[in-house]
Amino acid sequence: MHNTVIEINSQQFIQNIQTIRDHVNHNNKRIKFCLPIKANAYGHGLVGIAKIAQEYVDYFGVACLDEGVILRQHGIIKPILVFGSFAEGQVEALINNSLEVTVSSLYKAQYVAEYCESTGKVCNVHIKVDTGMNRIGVRVENARYLIDYVLQHKCLNLVGAYSHLASSDCADDGFTKEQITKFAQVVLYIKKHKPETICHLANSGGVCYYPDSYFDMVRPGIMSYGYSPNKLLLNDGLSYTASCFELKSIVSYFKVVAANQGISYNHKYTTTQETRVVTIPIGYGDGYRRCLSNIGEVLIRGHMYKVSGTICMDMLMVDIGSNEAYVGDEVVLIGKQGTQNITLESVVNKCSTITYEILCSFNDRIPRVYL
Ligand SMILES: *Cc1c(COP(=O)(O)O)cnc(C)c1O
Repeated sequence: MHNTVIEINSQQFIQNIQTIRDHVNHNNKRIKFCLPIKANAYGHGLVGIAKIAQEYVDYFGVACLDEGVILRQHGIIKPILVFGSFAEGQVEALINNSLEVTVSSLYKAQYVAEYCESTGKVCNVHIKVDTGMNRIGVRVENARYLIDYVLQHKCLNLVGAYSHLASSDCADDGFTKEQITKFAQVVLYIKKHKPETICHLANSGGVCYYPDSYFDMVRPGIMSYGYSPNKLLLNDGLSYTASCFELKSIVSYFKVVAANQGISYNHKYTTTQETRVVTIPIGYGDGYRRCLSNIGEVLIRGHMYKVSGTICMDMLMVDIGSNEAYVGDEVVLIGKQGTQNITLESVVNKCSTITYEILCSFNDRIPRVYL
């Protein structure tokens, strides 16, 4: 067995989806749920999460062609929307894998249409409107030309239209409200011509703080995995969501080290007395960030310790003083052990980053196990 694993609590993950669904659908609405599953499902494992989630969601959202292809190869049959802007050579594979394509400009729409005409295919598209993120998407002023073009072209099937919120992790944000208003104008136009078009805008922040952003479908990513888009602003309706991700390893080596000895590269940690030092088989080569050197925390036998010295590519060391630990003991780097808990947020703060980045940083050397 692998010594280092990421354990996913499937029950909790499903509960997160159901909690969010109940929240957006109160008052008997029927709002669809698109689960963003890009970047290896925020580190939770692309295929594993898709298999668990598929009976609870309406759509999957991926960033790029390859992620969608992997899902299809593993038998996932739910609609999959590719959020990213496609490259021209990818259109054939997108269509052949029944992936729904984001069309973010008139030029892109024409390119897809020409490809489809010459091959006799039909492409399912979502029009992307830029309401203020300034990333990809047609400007609101020009949206109707793109909508008209897609609607009149027999090779293009308009399935959806969407936009992305730039600052919805702040409640009562004026700019977010402007974005919602702008998108609502586009929705009005589309619904006049093709009422069944799935219009969608809300990311996690939208789901949490902006009910006006729900439209026909929501796309909450980080919340589905159990993290609040803004931990200072918890939403009571969503209090049943919780993290479902734990990072665990084992003690792989034990030794006694004399006083005044440096540990690991460049001896950034020095023992103050004769002490016990254990080695854990995880390092920055797995995505356990090197900036956690000397400050990262681990749980062993119910005790919390700091990482001792520089984190190596494949290992890190921990000075456990005069406490006990044996080779094979469980080590928790993110998650619970006994009454103690190391939250992802505490790791995030030490690295001065966001939950998303730490989750995505764990790579495929660490197997994902679904409990
Ligand atoms: C990643 C992504 C989301 C999800 O964002 P969260 O902040 O994780 O909820 C939604 N929509 C698009 C287009 C995305 O790329």
